[in-house]
Amino acid sequence: MNLIFIAPPAAGKGTVSSLLATNYGYQHISTGDLLRKEINSGSELGMQVQEIVNQGDLVSDDIITELLMKELAKVKSGFILDGYPRNVEQAEKLNTIFTSLNIPDYRVIYLAVTEEVATKRALGRIICNKCGRTYNKYFTELAPKVTNICDNCGNALSTRNEDTEETFKYRYQKYLDVTAPVLQYYQDLDKLSTVDANQPSDQVFEDIKKIIEV
Ligand code: AMP
Repeated sequence: MNLIFIAPPAAGKGTVSSLLATNYGYQHISTGDLLRKEINSGSELGMQVQEIVNQGDLVSDDIITELLMKELAKVKSGFILDGYPRNVEQAEKLNTIFTSLNIPDYRVIYLAVTEEVATKRALGRIICNKCGRTYNKYFTELAPKVTNICDNCGNALSTRNEDTEETFKYRYQKYLDVTAPVLQYYQDLDKLSTVDANQPSDQVFEDIKKIIEV
């Protein structure tokens, strides 16, 4: 079953996606990672979206939908969609994409987290720009084994430009205004499951296992 994660920023989507990818072979498609890859490569598209992403604003539906479609057309196994849809228009577009690519089987998982927990996760987040793995310096179970070095590929870790307190607050508000209505959209389609993402990531993972193993 394919999964779509909807959550406020820094709810732990990346961490749980890694666990699902490792344990179940899911392909993790993160639209934020796709954009960061473009920005780091210095491509024309990357330069076009850099400022928008750094400010915590959403890039245009057309740009992100095209990037996503290219990625979805390549998938060979079950996938996790992390970061899309970000608004109701994108949810509607996704329906059309799923129909055109013949993807009928999916479940939407809402990772519910308080603003307080999400803030702590955002401000402690450090990532590997090479393999995309995420760590957190404020949570022992999520810290890298060696300070600031990726366990996976040995690369130096860094913070995301958009993970400042000010930008986080802005992104969180944007989530409430623009993304949260997507939950009702999927509730109406009877596709929505909710998981308490204030829990440690291994417990969140256990709860998701119960959903995908039915
Ligand atoms: P994320 O890693 O999902 O938090 O995404 C990082 C940033 O990429 C967001 O703050 C947006 O600027 C941009 N972004 C990611 N996904 C989308 C999307 N579906 N629509 C518009 N912008 C997006």
